[in-house]
Amino acid sequence: ALDVAWAQTWVRRTAEVIAEHREELIELDRQIGDGDHGENMNRGFTAVVGKLDALDEAPAHVADVLKLVATTLMSTVGGAAGPLYGTAYLRAAKVTGLEELDAPAVVAMIEAGLEGIVARGKATTGEKTMVDAWTPAGSAAQEAASGGASPAEVLAAAATAAEEGAVATIPMVATKGRASYLGERSAGHQDPGATSTALILRAAADTAA
Ligand code: ADP
Ligand code: MG
Ligand code: MG
Repeated sequence: ALDVAWAQTWVRRTAEVIAEHREELIELDRQIGDGDHGENMNRGFTAVVGKLDALDEAPAHVADVLKLVATTLMSTVGGAAGPLYGTAYLRAAKVTGLEELDAPAVVAMIEAGLEGIVARGKATTGEKTMVDAWTPAGSAAQEAASGGASPAEVLAAAATAAEEGAVATIPMVATKGRASYLGERSAGHQDPGATSTALILRAAADTAA
């Protein structure tokens, strides 16, 4: 069930996966940015796990876990990704009111995350950012839920779409964020933020399966 225990497992798994992919995210950001995305994200999720471990009382709801992630990422990640992911988790926390997430609640969580990122960063699809992973993830989640998929299947559909969305950023020319300074030279590289989004959503799907 996608309850508060799952939310904690998801977040801890995300921290492991980000740590495993730290070098890859650094290398991607070195190609079109300043080479810190893997370190930024690893610092942030390490801090999140530290905060979860230090809690006196176990979190009661999925929303409490997402809120903790949001505030921790905002205060520790820095750069563009910190406030963007922070806003995503904060908005997601606001829509996960149920004890257990059903398929429509999973869709709402992903859509709210996307809306947070767009509200904060003002990017639209095709600008070579994490929005290019979140947008197809939201659509795929919606489509799966309408087709009667289980919450875990909705997450799996979102993760696959995010992975495809991340790969689809390769030929794009960046028009938002640091990579936009490169202009046409940003083409030919996968966006680091879209890549970390795919890792986060795959961790969600894997821990729900
Ligand atoms: P910085 O660029 O400040 O060093 P990071 O390297 O941690 O921050 O994050 C870079 C990622 O942030 C990019 O790969 C991109 O996906 C994302 N990003 C940057 N600007 C925006 C924006 N305006 N909207 C959405 N995502 C963005
Ligand atoms: Mg960077
Ligand atoms: Mg930076």
